[in-house]
Amino acid sequence: MLNIGWIRDNRDQVQQAADHKGIEVNISELLRCDNRRRALLQQVESLRQIRNQISQQIPGWLRQGLTEETEKAKMKVKEVNRELRELEEGLAETELEWNKRMLEVPNIVSPDTPRGRSDADNVEIARYGEPPAFGFPPLDHIALGEMHRMLDLPRGVKTAGTRSYYLCGAGALLHRAVQQLALDVLLASGFTLLEVPLIARTEALVHTGFLPAGEDQTYRLEGMDLRLVGTSEVPLVSYYSGEIVDVAQPVKLAAASQCFRSEAGSAGRDVHGLYRVHQFAKVEQVVLCEANLETAERLLQEITAHSESVLRQLELPYRVVAVCTGDMAAKTYKQYDLEAWMPSRGAYGETHSSSNLLDFQARRAGIRYRDQSGGLSYCYTLNNTAVASPRILIPLLENHQQEDGSIRIPAALRPYMNGLERLVPPA
Ligand code: AMP
Repeated sequence: MLNIGWIRDNRDQVQQAADHKGIEVNISELLRCDNRRRALLQQVESLRQIRNQISQQIPGWLRQGLTEETEKAKMKVKEVNRELRELEEGLAETELEWNKRMLEVPNIVSPDTPRGRSDADNVEIARYGEPPAFGFPPLDHIALGEMHRMLDLPRGVKTAGTRSYYLCGAGALLHRAVQQLALDVLLASGFTLLEVPLIARTEALVHTGFLPAGEDQTYRLEGMDLRLVGTSEVPLVSYYSGEIVDVAQPVKLAAASQCFRSEAGSAGRDVHGLYRVHQFAKVEQVVLCEANLETAERLLQEITAHSESVLRQLELPYRVVAVCTGDMAAKTYKQYDLEAWMPSRGAYGETHSSSNLLDFQARRAGIRYRDQSGGLSYCYTLNNTAVASPRILIPLLENHQQEDGSIRIPAALRPYMNGLERLVPPA
């Protein structure tokens, strides 16, 4: 959520940001509603004052036996109350509309965010490593997974429907190993690990900017105001909702959790294998800091570097892209994606998403800190994937496959795989 005072002063910038993100929002209508709300608030306030003034006089007149004045005053109070009820009803309706419109306003974008309509317009800013040149016909992760009996898609579908999977044996171990490696990177950088609720109140998703726009993206528990979270960013940010937090040092939180996504709107996209599934595990980094652009930019680089460290330790070729306006979420101010080389796609595929949200989430969630002047300000929040699996298994299996069908385990991952140097397909 943006500050309404700021929207009033910067309406063109806000409208432009929405247009560039491809989000349908009419800032003029919001401001008209805001004017109505302010006028109604003023009227209600002045009528309440009038009523209080008259009411305060009644006991005195009663004591002095001024019956006529008392009766007149009582009539006046009744009249004012009637008028107030009407105005308050109008105000309540206008406030509902105002809140709805405010929740639809997206965040502004950083000046260095590229303009564009889709991920095709994202701008590559760095590259690490070279895609492997195989001297044999390489297999995709599905064939490798089946050959190693570590991936069972048919049984996943049998149990849970499309976009479901079982990881078995070495597959399940790899899945846990990459998460533990990522967690260790974060713990070494001062993050606090939390085990978080994955069923959250609707309000928590609104606070973190996943609703109302992403209504069809979440799984709702029937008959309850509860939903499965699509990312632990929701419970991690919500941990402090409605609180005053000490951010003299940035607060760094991590979680390893399951994520649940309906993937509505992705019909027909990435239907094969592990790229786009309904349930996956993610190690997430969330940072809360003071409302300072330089601090937030430094932290964005820092959390991006953690994910790069994970990819480098996994010895995966990757690139960093500056995400363009049209490929950004409504809540985001600035975003980098990391994309690992996926041989079966013959392309880089997104594995990490690193975002600075300014105070967009904190304003919705009411997370504040005491600033240097002693006043209360809203924090800035940032987040990034440390690793998401099973998607990361795609580049891991495919890039490290050998001609004999074995899969080399990168040195940094071996301590998490009982020292195993390679996976050999079962006979
Ligand atoms: P996000 O939280 O949407 O920024 O996604 C973070 C990371 O989670 C992505 O870069 C992917 O690696 C992974 N991810 C997101 N959605 C899915 C999905 N439906 N299936 C598998 N992995 C996903």
